Amino acid sequence: MYIRDTIAAVSTPPGNGGIGIVRVSGDRAALVGSTLFKPIKNGGLVSHRFSFGTIYDTEHDQIVDEAMAVLMCSPHSYTREDVLELHCHGGWLVVERVLALVLSCGVRLAEAGEFTRRAFLNGRIDLTQAEAVMDIIASESDSALQLAQQLRGGVLSQRLDGIRALLLHGLALVEAYIDFPDDDLGHLDSVAILTAVDDARRQIGDLLGSFEEGRVIREGIAVLIVGKPNAGKSSLLNRLLNENRAIVTSIPGTTRDIIEQKINFEGLTVRLLDTAGIRHTEDLVEREGISRTLEQIPRADLVLAVFDASADFTAEDQLILDAVSGRPVLAVMNKCDLPRRLQLPGSELFLDTVDIAALSGAGIDLLKQRVAARFLTGRGDSRDRVALSRARHRDALEVAARHLATFGENFGEQNLELLALDLRGALEGVGSVTGQAVNDELLDLIFSSFCIGK
Ligand code: GDP
Repeated sequence: MYIRDTIAAVSTPPGNGGIGIVRVSGDRAALVGSTLFKPIKNGGLVSHRFSFGTIYDTEHDQIVDEAMAVLMCSPHSYTREDVLELHCHGGWLVVERVLALVLSCGVRLAEAGEFTRRAFLNGRIDLTQAEAVMDIIASESDSALQLAQQLRGGVLSQRLDGIRALLLHGLALVEAYIDFPDDDLGHLDSVAILTAVDDARRQIGDLLGSFEEGRVIREGIAVLIVGKPNAGKSSLLNRLLNENRAIVTSIPGTTRDIIEQKINFEGLTVRLLDTAGIRHTEDLVEREGISRTLEQIPRADLVLAVFDASADFTAEDQLILDAVSGRPVLAVMNKCDLPRRLQLPGSELFLDTVDIAALSGAGIDLLKQRVAARFLTGRGDSRDRVALSRARHRDALEVAARHLATFGENFGEQNLELLALDLRGALEGVGSVTGQAVNDELLDLIFSSFCIGK
């Protein structure tokens, strides 16, 4: 439900910073501006023009801060409502005081994502573009950012609009016959319907086929490093972490916390899983460390199995091989600076084998390229390529694809009511991606993962 009250929130991150921005959206935005903001120059706020002045607390007869203010009158604003932004100094106290003053003007504190939700409800952007805003903020690699910007620009929306148009055309033709129960579909119309629906089905198939790469671009991949003690896991890890800016995060809520170290290479975000366990392999908790590491195997998109290429293959190496069997494994032959002794059994166990020397860094670039090449085809970089990247979009399009499959089966029987039902089902699936057919519950779910002030 859309209640047209006026909302406000701090739109800059919490804490102290250079500037802090309080954003206001709704009918009262202009009133808030004229009540709290005193421009240095005479005259009130002019839409889309920055003014310099002070924010004034009339009740306490006090200047709260000097600030810039901009009013963006409806409909040319982020939400399509009147929007006011107050740019003050970025200390948390001053920003909080400005927000409190704004709220005292009959304005409500915005919920998470509510500005963007209003932009969607007012038709300025569709749901894929709203989600793209969230993706832009959360992007952790260049390719993720580029994909998000494409979505925000509406490439997916346009593609889906095209698919909708094909399905609507097919539906219109089918429905034209429904009122005439004795008529079968004419030959020309049959061909026209099948052509349109087939085209839609093919395009939906293409989009579904792009999901895996899109997901990888958006979320990155989870990589686990395994190997017997002294194979060189820590050395490899340290090299990867030192060469790339690493962000360390812990994910609570499992039986024990999992530590993730995120790095970025070749345009890909790589989450190195649970390396705390691996790091302890040199001391007494070695066994515990290894078993904890092995627990992570099913979570990994890729396992890097590190071997000491200068030593013979041992029962410990075999143990590791058994543990990762059936998973996507890249064999990393370490210590290639030393004479080679290792004979690995069965190359079919591995996607690929890469020689490295973790100590000197030899082969590390090649290793990174091989990892990236496995997940990114490079097609995702082309400007007009559309990739699905959210499970919500994939699920909705799978619903559409199922309806179109049934449509194909029902077509021969010429049961027009059933055919119309299939096409409507497919249209609903496609429409729920862009937000043409969604309920409040789904919107709550989507926008609650935004930050406040966005
Ligand atoms: P981990 O137990 O698997 O984590 O192995 P480490 O990374 O601690 O390495 C074990 C030993 O092998 C250390 O003494 C390292 O210095 C050595 N080592 C690691 N990588 C290389 C390498 O590429 N060449 C050589 N010659 N020694 C290495």
